Amino acid sequence: MKTVVITGSASGIGAALGAIYRERGDRVIGVDIKDAEIEADLSILQDRRDAILRTIDMAEGRIDRLALCAGLGSHIEDFARIASVNYFGAIHLLDGLKVSLAKGDHSAALVVCSNSARFGDFDEHPFVLACLAGDEAEARRLVAKENGFLAYAGSKHALCRALRRRVMHFSERRIRLNGIAPGPVQTPLLQGTIDHPDYGKQFEAIKIPLGRTAEADEMARYMAMMLSEDAAYLHGAIVYVDGGMDAALFPDRF
Ligand code: NAD
Repeated sequence: MKTVVITGSASGIGAALGAIYRERGDRVIGVDIKDAEIEADLSILQDRRDAILRTIDMAEGRIDRLALCAGLGSHIEDFARIASVNYFGAIHLLDGLKVSLAKGDHSAALVVCSNSARFGDFDEHPFVLACLAGDEAEARRLVAKENGFLAYAGSKHALCRALRRRVMHFSERRIRLNGIAPGPVQTPLLQGTIDHPDYGKQFEAIKIPLGRTAEADEMARYMAMMLSEDAAYLHGAIVYVDGGMDAALFPDRF
């Protein structure tokens, strides 16, 4: 029996992943703002600290799998909150649970990024750099006056880089660390984007080579594989599971 910690466990991809592990008889510790074993608002620093301590306590100090799924879509009007949940909520828990992961069996962590992480010119963007510097106040200040696209895609871009920067450190503790970059997945988050007057129009214009959105369950099954021992040599990767969108958009960039 594995001990699996999943943030964003109450809905969408996180809920689908939790169902897979529960069916296998593993112990799932969900962390979410509601309907979870550990309820916490991951946009708030003190809540994140409490969530880390309570998770370690519930897991008895040993975690085998960590999936960081909690996130807010670009349609949310509080852009600073998007940055806090999507970037700082993920990275704070990843770092805070590392010692417990190091005690797990064939430990692995997976960060849910997004294929939108490459949709903008983010390399030197001050918001992205503030995220990477761990300066939450500055990142929130910079993004608050911008837009939901920057908050969402920029925080996912920063997440991809943050996990790549940690690859040596985590391997020294025998923890595999990877990211998944999904394309559109049928969840409440995607529905919120589709229902938004501007982002909805942009979504309609998107061409997905496979001609459909993904189901949360199929994304979760792929994630469970990445977290499993079948993927024992996968480390530091960001895997695009996006129906071919990234290749179609950027055929000559990889
Ligand atoms: P979802 O809305 O179904 O699930 C997100 C979960 O995060 C919810 O349970 C929600 O309560 C939780 N959450 C939000 N704010 C929180 C907070 N402050 N504290 C604690 N928990 C909070 O959406 P989903 O599509 O399943 O999203 C899961 C992940 O997948 C997100 O990181 C999202 O960015 C990413 N993603 C989704 C898509 C897509 O098309 N659905 C595409 C690419 C990436």
